[in-house]
Amino acid sequence: MSFEASALHGALSTLIRDVPDFPEPGVVFKDISPLLADHEAFRTVVDALTVSGQDEQGVANVDKVVGIEARGFILAAPVALALGAGFVPIRKSGKLPGLTYRETYSLEYGEATLEVHQDAFRPGDRVLIVDDVLATGGTVNAASRLVGQCGAVVSAVAVLIELGFLSGRETLADHSLDALTTV
Ligand code: AMP
Repeated sequence: MSFEASALHGALSTLIRDVPDFPEPGVVFKDISPLLADHEAFRTVVDALTVSGQDEQGVANVDKVVGIEARGFILAAPVALALGAGFVPIRKSGKLPGLTYRETYSLEYGEATLEVHQDAFRPGDRVLIVDDVLATGGTVNAASRLVGQCGAVVSAVAVLIELGFLSGRETLADHSLDALTTV
């Protein structure tokens, strides 16, 4: 294992905290606060996510990086800066002030709605979507549909943690998915 790979592995295995029964019984919440509070670990994770927006020569191949509210913002913004790309927030309903597109999707219990500004992208922009956790895939799929409504193109999806037992990856069949760790 290279130094970078072992640093990443160490950060992911020791600095993500499992919180049982949060926010509701039966859910094991993946709390990344300890990782974000550790400068070296945070930087290692941002560096690893940045690779998803680069070609094999390490040249950026996306124009925009999307972060999904709220923890996705924390990861996506430094990735956008590292790539020399713009940052676009996808937010929960009612938070964005301008004209928006909206996507409503099913959660385990109930529904959620995400929004993006209609003018957030240029036509044909290549987009990297970043979030903290991929669970069922509903959130990333809704974000992907919003990018498409704006006339932009999802190039790749990158997450810190993939919950493999929920098979979200299978719902993203059209997109390349990079997960730094799968549990
Ligand atoms: P899903 O739409 O089912 O893929 O859920 C992914 C979204 O919900 C992400 O934005 C995560 O922040 C959040 N999420 C889902 N499950 C968890 C979990 N076990 N721990 C932390 N966040 C989660």
